[in-house]
Amino acid sequence: MKINIAIDGPSAAGKSTIAKLLAKKLNYSHLDTGAMYRCVAYLSKQLGIDQKDEAALATMIDSMQIDFDSLGNVYINQKDVSREIRTNDISMMASNVSVFPAVRERLVRMQQRIAKNKGYIMDGRDIGTVVLPDAELKIFLIASVAARAKRRYQEYLQKGMPADYDAIFEDIKKRDYQDTHRATSPLKKAEDAVEIDTSDMSIDEVQHAIEDLLLSMQK
Ligand code: C5P
Repeated sequence: MKINIAIDGPSAAGKSTIAKLLAKKLNYSHLDTGAMYRCVAYLSKQLGIDQKDEAALATMIDSMQIDFDSLGNVYINQKDVSREIRTNDISMMASNVSVFPAVRERLVRMQQRIAKNKGYIMDGRDIGTVVLPDAELKIFLIASVAARAKRRYQEYLQKGMPADYDAIFEDIKKRDYQDTHRATSPLKKAEDAVEIDTSDMSIDEVQHAIEDLLLSMQK
């Protein structure tokens, strides 16, 4: 029987990378909820919608469609925006629009609808606490700001995107602050989540640690 797995943690802690790998290995589906907040930020920017106007953002979300394909590509109204939503600029805007309850309610509803049949590995900030409080396994991934900035910097270089380490470092610090201090669903570890500090761990090691947890659940 498949279960749901929640992976939460701050920006660039490796959530999506690990979720993707685990999903492939276990034959589960992966949902990157951060990409959905990024889509809201991206489309509002494209449409010139004021990102401080909660009602306007809510109206926009009600008429937008967000889809993922099996490769993890992200589409807004059938247009592939996988690359466009990954810039530093959009990261910050996603954090800004994610403070609004009207935005969160709508995206959380979509996420809960998607995962109702189990078999999902969902990564984000509020999965274990709000979206899937009944998830059978909850992981909270953390890592130092320096470790996370270094990973994101290397990821940008590999993708051939412009990369400035200092700007990435500052952006991560600022988003950490915003994401942990917002009034609605701030980033926080669920009481029943297992915390893993990935600062000095390879991706393989993190994956094995989670697989061990899954195995111990089956005993
Ligand atoms: O995970 P990622 O860095 O792509 O998320 C972008 C932003 O979206 C985060 O900084 C956070 O503010 C917001 N987010 C959120 N809740 C989630 C996922 C992401 O508030 N479940």
